[in-house]
Formats: sequence, C-alpha cells, structure tokens
Amino acid sequence: MIKTDVLIIGGGASGLSSAFVASNNGASVIIIESDSLGGVLNQCIHNGFEYGDATMTGTELACKLAQKLPKNVEVIKGTAVSVSSDRIVEVVTTSGVKEIKAHSVVLSSGATDVSVEMLQINGNPLGVYTAGEAQRLINREGISIGKKAVVLGSGDVGMILARRLTLEGVKVEAIIERKQQPSANAENVARCTEDFNIPLITSSTVTQAKGAPRLNEITVVSVDEFYQPVPNTDKIIRCDTLIIACGRRPYVVFPNAKLDHITGGCLVNDRQETSQRGVFACGDAVKIGRGVKEVIKEGEVAGKYASMRALTLKLADREAK
Ligand SMILES: Cc1cc2nc3c(=O)[nH]c(=O)nc-3n(C[C@H](O)[C@H](O)[C@H](O)COP(=O)(O)OP(=O)(O)OC[C@H]3O[C@@H](n4cnc5c(N)ncnc54)[C@H](O)[C@@H]3O)c2cc1C
Repeated sequence: MIKTDVLIIGGGASGLSSAFVASNNGASVIIIESDSLGGVLNQCIHNGFEYGDATMTGTELACKLAQKLPKNVEVIKGTAVSVSSDRIVEVVTTSGVKEIKAHSVVLSSGATDVSVEMLQINGNPLGVYTAGEAQRLINREGISIGKKAVVLGSGDVGMILARRLTLEGVKVEAIIERKQQPSANAENVARCTEDFNIPLITSSTVTQAKGAPRLNEITVVSVDEFYQPVPNTDKIIRCDTLIIACGRRPYVVFPNAKLDHITGGCLVNDRQETSQRGVFACGDAVKIGRGVKEVIKEGEVAGKYASMRALTLKLADREAK
C-alpha cells in the first residue's frame, strides 16, 4: 500500500493548482492522471485562458501549469476506480492495480460531454462525435473527421468547433439550436457564424441520425417552446459528421459524497470539502461553465485545506506514537 498526505484524482487545471499549493504547504502529494497533465486544456488551441495578467491558449496554459508543478509531486499514470470511506483509493495502472492511502483526497476529475445517448436522437452511426471527442481528434491527433458536418448546439464550444471545422476544410452545413437565440456570447457568434457564413438554425433539433456504417443524413425538426418536435416539420440534411455540442456535466468519479442537484457536481463547503470527510473537490467536477481562472482558484483552496487536514492528522499520529 502506497501512503501519501494528499492524493489528487485528475491533473487538469484544478488538480495541478491543488497539487502546487498542497506541496508548497509541506504535504506529500500524488496525482493520478488517466491521460495528460493539463486535462481539457490540451485540446483547446484557441486564445482565451486567463492566467495572472496574461491571456493564452489552453495548450500554453497546460504547459505552464505542468512546468510549475514542484518536482517532489509524484504523478502516477492510471485511472482511479474506487475510494473507500477511509480514503484508500484503488488505481488501475499499466503495471497492475495499486492501492493508495491518503489523509486527504482531492477530486478534480473534470467534466464529461453530453452524449448522443443522453439526447432523444434515433441512431448513432459512425461519424457522430461529442464536441470533446471531435476537438481531441482534430486538435491533438491531427485527424480529419469528415467532409460535411452539422453541429448540434450553439454554445461557445459549438461555435468554436464549427469555425475550427471550417478552417480544417470541412463544410459545416449548419449549427442547430433548440432555443430561439444562440447560447454563445455575441462575440463568438459574430467571429464564428457570421465571419465564416455558417448557417444557424434556431428553434430546431435533430431527431434522427441515419447511415450504415457511416452517417449520411440527419433529420432536423422545429421545436415548440417546450423543445418538443413540431409535427410535419422534418427536414433532411445530408452530412457525414454530426457533432453533439450540447454541454458538459461534472464527472464525479465516486458518487459517495452528496451531489448538488442543480450543477450535478459534488456539493462542497467553503473549504471545498465534500460531505465525505477528508474528500475535497474542485474545478469542473464541482460545476462547469466557469473560466479557468476561477477553476484554478478553487483548486488552490482545495489544496490548502486538503494539506492542512493531512498535516494535522500526521502530527496527531506522531504524537500518539
Ligand atoms: C471546449 C472548452 C473550451 C473552453 N474555453 C475556455 C476559455 O476560452 N477560457 C476559460 O477561461 N476557460 C475555458 N474553458 C473552461 C476550462 O478550460 C475548464 O473549466 C478547466 O480547464 C477545467 O479544469 P479541471 O481541472 O476542472 O478539469 P479537466 O481539465 O477536465 O481535468 C480533469 C482531469 O481528470 C482526469 N481524470 C478524470 N477521471 C479520472 C480518473 N478516474 N482517474 C484519473 N484521472 C482522471 C482527466 O483525464 C483530466 O485530465 C473551456 C472548456 C472547454 C471544455
């Protein structure tokens, strides 16, 4: 069994800032990361991430945060799969399953995309991607994902992705939005749909994705004020790619702690501690839709209180011996 003061699950912006503060407070820190340090920042090549007085791309910020990580913070590549009530975390790594016991655990596991299965869309052929999958394939792997695309969802992510696809030579047939107005901020609407002539179809949704094995058409219908399909308004759009950009949900790896019914994330107090004593949470795992500046601050608070608790317990253990 490996022992540490603070164990951090997820090495995105919130987990890295948590590790930074906890380590500088004198705690031993382990980060478990199933993919790359920096998390979702790695797939964001657009400018708009505030850090100190500067604004940079997500990838730049991921590098900056990873470089700032104190050398004595251990990073274990693996996936945390369970946490017990006495904070023993089971981690699957390429060299087998490890158990790590920590005085404090920080959940900084980020968020996950709303998927086609969560929507009322019939069919899920090849060529249907969540926004995160598409961004990852295009921006990180350099893979071309299709020739004719439709983006479902007009939030900032949908807009940025529609522009990115266009720049990659994909013909974006439309952005479809169920509300009467786009959800993205006015600047993003102008810089994406207007500058690149991408049609925006509002008060509409996608009900069917057809094709075998690859998508070749989708059915778009108008919706009423309750977002219910209006009969006889079906329209076919031929495309080989459908991007689901309908938001993200906090990814709570271990739902032992109480969840917030509104955000779907961990319920935390002002020390970022969850209802499970010694388990802290921060970043998108608590609430999505905030800028990275706020996420970093929250990670720092979680790191501060997680390390204070761990060091206090360690001292008490020593005195008891
Ligand atoms: C498309 C997009 C564009 C954005 N644009 C902006 C912007 O312009 N400006 C801005 O300020 N903010 C922006 N944001 C928001 C900001 O990037 C995020 O809020 C922030 O990066 C989230 O950090 P995080 O650490 O909470 O989560 P993440 O970055 O998601 O990190 C979570 C990490 O946990 C790991 N993980 C999950 N489960 C496990 C497990 N069981 N075991 C081990 N590891 C695990 C994941 O691999 C991941 O690396 C954007 C977000 C998105 C998605």
